[in-house]
Amino acid sequence: MAIASINPATGEIIREFPAHTADEVEERIASAHAAFGRLQETDFATRARWMRAAADLLEEEVEQVASMITEEMGKPLVQARAEARKSATAMHFYADRAEEFLSGRSLEDPSAVNASAATTRYQPLGVVLAVMPWNYPIWQVVRFAAPALMAGNTGLLKHASNVPQAALYLDSLFERGGFPPGSFRSLLIPASAVEGVLRDRRVAAATLTGSEPAGRSVAAIAGSEVKHVVLELGGSDPFVVMPSADLDSAVATAVTSRTTNNGQACINAKRFIVHDEVYDAFVERFSAAMEALTVGDPLDAATDIGPLATASGRDELAALVDDALAKGATARVGGSTAPGSGWFYRPTVLTDVDAGMRLYAEEAFGPVATVFRVADAEEALRIANDTTFGLSSAVWTQDPAEEELLVNGLQAGAVFVNGMSISYPELPFGGIKDSGVGRELSAEGIREFCNLKSVWKA
Ligand code: NDP
Repeated sequence: MAIASINPATGEIIREFPAHTADEVEERIASAHAAFGRLQETDFATRARWMRAAADLLEEEVEQVASMITEEMGKPLVQARAEARKSATAMHFYADRAEEFLSGRSLEDPSAVNASAATTRYQPLGVVLAVMPWNYPIWQVVRFAAPALMAGNTGLLKHASNVPQAALYLDSLFERGGFPPGSFRSLLIPASAVEGVLRDRRVAAATLTGSEPAGRSVAAIAGSEVKHVVLELGGSDPFVVMPSADLDSAVATAVTSRTTNNGQACINAKRFIVHDEVYDAFVERFSAAMEALTVGDPLDAATDIGPLATASGRDELAALVDDALAKGATARVGGSTAPGSGWFYRPTVLTDVDAGMRLYAEEAFGPVATVFRVADAEEALRIANDTTFGLSSAVWTQDPAEEELLVNGLQAGAVFVNGMSISYPELPFGGIKDSGVGRELSAEGIREFCNLKSVWKA
């Protein structure tokens, strides 16, 4: 895949970028490694000052950054602005909280380990390779980079090949904030070149957000090198609606949760599991609301859903829906690509989906919802968990016993009750099963790329 910005709303190539040569990659690894040494001589207050300065730059440049995001991957401009601002917020969050999160602890009774004192401290691991996707081209990177740099690690970014402008923006952002040159560098390389970088002895660990095959490949290489890895590999999140739910609110939130980011977020709700008593009303209102959405130019403020980011992503989504329709699913709305030269897909609601269809098991990365009818909370739980994914989930009920059953029983890294899944800097984020390993964000996220050192003193 060429490293190029292609406007998904038109299919036009904006700009192609040559891949870095072997010498250029070597220079960047060496500079990230050297910068790690320099960061060890800095304290939290210094790094926090640089991080806040970088966040301020991002905030000042929000319009430029938002236009770049929309032009490269097609999300509505208003959502691109929100992404840039949220990234700056996370940078401030870690500038404010990193020292507290990494403060370590003292054993209350060191005599239990025959010591006069026993303490722990968190120390950075070194150069961390981040393999990142195009769907939140600034946010996905910042939620790794902000804690990693505040901990004293340095980063090498292999961004998705369709967002090179975002990669180059991030290449300079932290240095412009004050971090030593080399602290955070982008590698313009194809996926096939990741292995060589990850096997380099100067690279200590890796994080990847993206598809399951990419994650499995990076994890296998990291495993063979005995290097720590964090994986965030997407999901097929359930959104359970029970009879006591506020249906108006559930329907409105279901639409937002399915279609945010043109339906291309790992934590978009994808499978709607609805109790028999409210199923017909839910399907009717949800379908009407999905059909009322405006699909079109993502730069237009009236647009709800822009194009999918790549032609292959659009074709893959169409193939999933076509397979389901051929095997007996019903399209309540949508079910086909939308007209235009870009990679548009119509908001789609499918019912009568069963386990024989690809869509039952695979992630739909676009504005396609499946709705299932269930008799009770136990059946809702069974269908919700009948997936290899386990990222996030949502539950709509006013019944405390039902809420507890579902919150406790859902196999997922998070449950949102009477709301939709959203990532917050304050909340741990990550999945179980094939959705990944490890956690991002919060205190747990910054500790992932640290050595928790125990210090025993006689
Ligand atoms: P990929 O997983 O292919 O891309 C994500 C990143 O991984 C990119 O930087 C990509 O580089 C890189 N990559 C791909 N294959 C490998 C590999 N074998 N070794 C190392 N790095 C690799 O995602 P796609 O863009 O192809 O999207 C496909 C599907 O992935 C989506 O339909 C969705 O299901 C899922 N996905 C999930 C995301 C999430 O947020 N969890 C985000 C994006 C996608 P390059 O671009 O050069 O190929």
